[in-house]
Amino acid sequence: MKRSMLHCRSCGAVYDADAVFRCACGEPLDLDWTESGIDEDGRDLPSRYGAFFPFEPGEWLSLGEGNTPLVPLSRLAGELGLSSLVVKNESANPTWSFKDRGTAACIAHARALGFTRVGTVSTGNMAASVAAYGAAAGLETVILVKGDLAEEKMAPIAIYGPRLIRVQGAYDGLYAESIRIGAERGIYFMNSDVPFRVAGSRTIAFEIFEQTDGCLPDWVIVPTSAGGNIRGIINGFMDLKAAGLADRIPGFICAQAAGCSPIATAFARSDEHISPFPAPHTIAHAIENPFPPSGNRVLLELRSRTWHALAATEDEIVRAQADMARSGLFGQPAAAVPLATLRQARAKGIVKEGERVALVFTGSGLKYTAAFASHRLHWEDCGLEELEERLK
Ligand SMILES: [Zn+2]
Repeated sequence: MKRSMLHCRSCGAVYDADAVFRCACGEPLDLDWTESGIDEDGRDLPSRYGAFFPFEPGEWLSLGEGNTPLVPLSRLAGELGLSSLVVKNESANPTWSFKDRGTAACIAHARALGFTRVGTVSTGNMAASVAAYGAAAGLETVILVKGDLAEEKMAPIAIYGPRLIRVQGAYDGLYAESIRIGAERGIYFMNSDVPFRVAGSRTIAFEIFEQTDGCLPDWVIVPTSAGGNIRGIINGFMDLKAAGLADRIPGFICAQAAGCSPIATAFARSDEHISPFPAPHTIAHAIENPFPPSGNRVLLELRSRTWHALAATEDEIVRAQADMARSGLFGQPAAAVPLATLRQARAKGIVKEGERVALVFTGSGLKYTAAFASHRLHWEDCGLEELEERLK
């Protein structure tokens, strides 16, 4: 790995890009690396966008993450009065969520630093992603999950063979506790907004830039929980602009569920900092983080550029999940939150008639089958001899 730095945009502190996960001031860190360039012959993430990372060839282990489709939704675009509406389908990643991009970057970092043990704290997408990449890299992998996580959610993580531990007690404290234990025991905890996970998310911006032939959307709408993914995508567009590849940065809308919306709530109240969200509850479990570790950082980014944060109700999320499925894309409820907030943004005049919008579709609908119960799904039964009559 080439020498690179980590930078805190809140207090200005700079660190060597070692196993440092947060600034001493408590805020998250960003990779400070000025090299850039897209290799148009590169077929996978590390060969195409490798210049944006400080890794040496061979340090990045790819399971085929990234290179996900940008799908146009023409009917919904027409209904919403947009000139284009596209969906970045991150459910096409190896473990069916956007998390694989950041996990791959963290695994490369961990390998470059000589770690043999990695881990994460997660309730779903990130746990499966780290378990898969840890297994592929032959690293001892520790996955810490909530004490009450149901068996239905444990099995799709356990299948990759990690050390999987349900931890009883306050889940909120597990993030900081894992980083502390990791530092003592030599475990690289690649949690939700650690610097290299955020750096990996930049590749979503690189791909949107390439897939739109540089004709960037006016708005990018990102489901937001910890805040690492939206930060990474913003950073990606900033890197493209700094490299002279893109001429501007799209507008951003931070999309949350009203049942757990610490960032959107602070934004609406013009608060300077986020506060822990009381009694969070939403069908969009994947973005149910009541006190996001990158929340203050995201709030600052939104404010400094007149961007927005919006929160969708449960009914709006369920409707958006159905609408996207009826357009051919079945995502987990969290992945439908951008469409739900886009409707609000059109009604409020934030997104204007004729604008171009990209939605980040973060994970597969099969990740959370309990959501089926919120839809009125129906089918028919009939005997073989009745079938012809039935289909008349
Ligand atoms: Zn700091």
